[in-house]
Amino acid sequence: MEEYLEATSYQCNKGFLRRAGSDILPTKSNIAKRGVVKEETCMLCCSERETVAHILWSCLLAHDAWSVSGRNFQKSLCEAMNFIDIIDYLFQHCSREDMDLFATTTRNIWNRHIFFLHGGPFHHPNYVAKEAALSVQQYWNVALTRENESRPTGEMAQVHWTPPPQNLFKENWDIAQCKEKQRIGIGIIIRDFKGLVCAALSQTIEIYTEVATAEAMGALRVIEFCKDIGIQEVIFEGDAEVVVKAINKHDSTLC
Ligand SMILES: [Zn+2]
Repeated sequence: MEEYLEATSYQCNKGFLRRAGSDILPTKSNIAKRGVVKEETCMLCCSERETVAHILWSCLLAHDAWSVSGRNFQKSLCEAMNFIDIIDYLFQHCSREDMDLFATTTRNIWNRHIFFLHGGPFHHPNYVAKEAALSVQQYWNVALTRENESRPTGEMAQVHWTPPPQNLFKENWDIAQCKEKQRIGIGIIIRDFKGLVCAALSQTIEIYTEVATAEAMGALRVIEFCKDIGIQEVIFEGDAEVVVKAINKHDSTLC
């Protein structure tokens, strides 16, 4: 697991995988170890103990999601050992992009489980798999685009981006307005002090407004994104100077 966590920069998945791999997610089996409950049977399939590996991998209802996900995962479906063994096995047999898809899909399967426990609907496997695929695709699109943009090309080469100080993150964003379709697009990328992309987001908002307001809306989404993925030590960098100064000046009140 550590090899994958070291290799990937998809920050959204790291915390979740670390908890899953360390077997500390609040499954029935783990709760029973603390004496809180005695019943350990999975409430979804009613046939196996509800362990981390079971919920995320070997439960019949997890199989449903994996069966419409990447081909590599379908071939690998088997009675799971520990979840960390599954991560390590797949890391040896899958590409980086597939591993990001695997990590995002497991996170979605877990979120579906928790959502259902709290009275929400049980999302269809296609929804779980497609949402994960879209999320990873957006991440890689933004990461690769930014990588190409930052690559020097002869006399046109210009260096705009400078890394943040050690152990801090830098968040860059940009917005684009489309008057015809009455919407704005927001692209966000977060990099660490080594310049590695840690997270990215591409989103469309169905609203059209003046530039300053659109920039402010983009900034708000930027802050929400940071909070969503648990990053606090971050420097904000964007085109809207007034907005950026306001955020960086008051960053201590944001998290
Ligand atoms: Zn089950």
